[in-house]
Amino acid sequence: MSKLLFYGAMLAAKSASLGLRILGRNASFLPGKIAVTICKDFLGHLQPPKHLICVTGTNGKTTVSNLLTNVLRQAGYTVTNNSLGSNVQAGVATALLENATFGGRVKTDIAVLEVDERSSLLIYPYIKPSILVCNNIMRDSIKRNAHTDFISFVINKAIPAGTKVILNADDIIDCHLGLNNPDRTYFGITAEAPQDNTMPFLRDIVYCPECGSLLEAEYIRYNHIGRVYCPNCDYKTPQPDFAITDIDRENGTFTVTHDGVDEQYKLVNDNITNLYNFCAAITALTKFGLPYEKIKAAFESVEIVKSRHNELSAGGRNLKIILAKGQNPVACTGVYRYTAGCPGENKTVLITVDDVGDNINNSENVSWIYDADYSLLNDPSIHRVIFVGPRHADHRLRALMAGIPAEKIHALPTWQEGVKLVDMENTGDIYLLYDPYKGAEMEAIKTALLSRMEGGANE
Ligand SMILES: [Zn+2]
Repeated sequence: MSKLLFYGAMLAAKSASLGLRILGRNASFLPGKIAVTICKDFLGHLQPPKHLICVTGTNGKTTVSNLLTNVLRQAGYTVTNNSLGSNVQAGVATALLENATFGGRVKTDIAVLEVDERSSLLIYPYIKPSILVCNNIMRDSIKRNAHTDFISFVINKAIPAGTKVILNADDIIDCHLGLNNPDRTYFGITAEAPQDNTMPFLRDIVYCPECGSLLEAEYIRYNHIGRVYCPNCDYKTPQPDFAITDIDRENGTFTVTHDGVDEQYKLVNDNITNLYNFCAAITALTKFGLPYEKIKAAFESVEIVKSRHNELSAGGRNLKIILAKGQNPVACTGVYRYTAGCPGENKTVLITVDDVGDNINNSENVSWIYDADYSLLNDPSIHRVIFVGPRHADHRLRALMAGIPAEKIHALPTWQEGVKLVDMENTGDIYLLYDPYKGAEMEAIKTALLSRMEGGANE
């Protein structure tokens, strides 16, 4: 009976997929949704490829899974991947069934699947990853992801025995996952260790996981990412097996050291969160068995997806467009920090992030604005911060509370008004930080800004 249901589900899902494509509609969710609605254990009937790499964690899933897919394809493998679509159970089912025979055998050499943390229990019991990468565990949208303890519990409960786990040694929460899995590999960054050992206000763990004493930091890079120890017991964060030991911005390279060997790669992007993403991907690819030369060669041509980080120039200035993610205080804080730390003076930062599009049929919640660190925008290199969109007044209040001088802050309901407030005579590089749900608005702002930058004068 169960097998009959599976064939019925496969037929319905493949028909839906075909229909959606004919209509020119997005087919990355609905076919899988139909499949798992008809046949609850649909995923369990599929035969995934022998090599199944899953990528989970709060931030960087898409970047890592895209990197893995690109490098593996360049190395000559065929790869099933869902990073353009949904990362919940239905999205995973869609990606796999699209590349499967009617009987359920996935035809590619490898599947690289981005998996939503909360969906772990609906996915790993049916399809067992050979490698599971978990980038980091941090607070996320409070409406969706609850607490980091809950997310850790869900992932831990779902990780199958025998899966090789790849974890962030510098993430005090993430490094405790998969303790029952003997094959654990840690990645991290030891280069450019900060001198400062004060703990930031935004971190998701403060107490020793062993004895409950207050942890102390050797150093912290951001949030709870860094190296910590317990003053009361032996606890400390693990040493990374794969570590970025050098970042050479002048020559555009970084070095990953493992097993005593130094390996150099092209520095595609020097944002610290992306460096962690690169190290996670290199660790997974090496564990998979891909030789260094092939990974290195692929990194030469790899690009961070343009929609996440795009750099353009016009009229002698740069326009950097970076995804910030409303409702995710860690992502917003990371982007604010990156923007403040980029070289240059008189920067203008135009921010269009909010949660309003997600408030249909549920409650409003602005706690994420207060969880993010707006004091980073109070950097001497930033001369104007422009908030646009329905949450502009909330952002303005938060920015004032973070100590940003009122004269630096501009808050307006529409992006058109915001673009006009860029002082083209005096601005240095312009940063556009935008929400994933505002792709079309970002494009419109980009066009308007470039037009003003090319004109070079205030309109
Ligand atoms: Zn302790």
